[in-house]
Amino acid sequence: MKTIGMIGGMSWESSLEYYRILNQTVKQELGGFHSAKCVMFSVDFEEIEQLQHKGEWGKLTDIMVLAAQKVEKAGADCILICTNTMHKMAPEVEASINIPLLHIADVTAKQIKSKGQKKVGLLGTKFTMEQEFYKGRLEKDHGIEVMVPDPDQRTIIHNILYQELVKGEITEKSKNEFKVIIESLNKRGAQGIILGCTEIPLLVKQTDYQIELYDTTFIHAQAAVQWALHE
Ligand code: GLU
Repeated sequence: MKTIGMIGGMSWESSLEYYRILNQTVKQELGGFHSAKCVMFSVDFEEIEQLQHKGEWGKLTDIMVLAAQKVEKAGADCILICTNTMHKMAPEVEASINIPLLHIADVTAKQIKSKGQKKVGLLGTKFTMEQEFYKGRLEKDHGIEVMVPDPDQRTIIHNILYQELVKGEITEKSKNEFKVIIESLNKRGAQGIILGCTEIPLLVKQTDYQIELYDTTFIHAQAAVQWALHE
């Protein structure tokens, strides 16, 4: 089994999920007392969140690069950036290390294609929904058409993410807000919905929906286990 490296803490609420899914998946696959070989460097999210909202992407890139190098030095064979948003720096991170980076958008695209879908809605932070690093990769590298909610809805989602979910707060009101937004994307023609923020699956569950939901936390962590065990 190879060792999975993670840059976590963005937020730790979702990093916990990564750790749980890695270990549960290894246990399912190998049985017995097996668990995942992994290392995580976990950042202070206060620092990250402030730099994000000031648009200090250069400083954030330096932090991510340094974290990735520490994870590599700690013995990881691959790296996961445990957040969709911070994949904005994936190219710089990838260039600064000698182990492969498993990109969250690539493994999600693979899952979407395996379901035969071509047109999906994307929910995430405003950075993820509005900038090119994520949508562009899905569209250009994978031929998937990506729709995002309208501007007011994007603000609602962004605020729920930063004011509630990254702090572990789950409310019925926000669950309903997501429901309305997912239904409107479905009406506009989305065949499936990418839960493109690693905390959204804490609130939005497939069992409450008929439309296919792509849980990026689960997909990313599962793909890492497949890589660690079989590649
Ligand atoms: N975990 C979130 C994501 O997947 C947002 C937190 C962050 O800004 O990294 O995008």
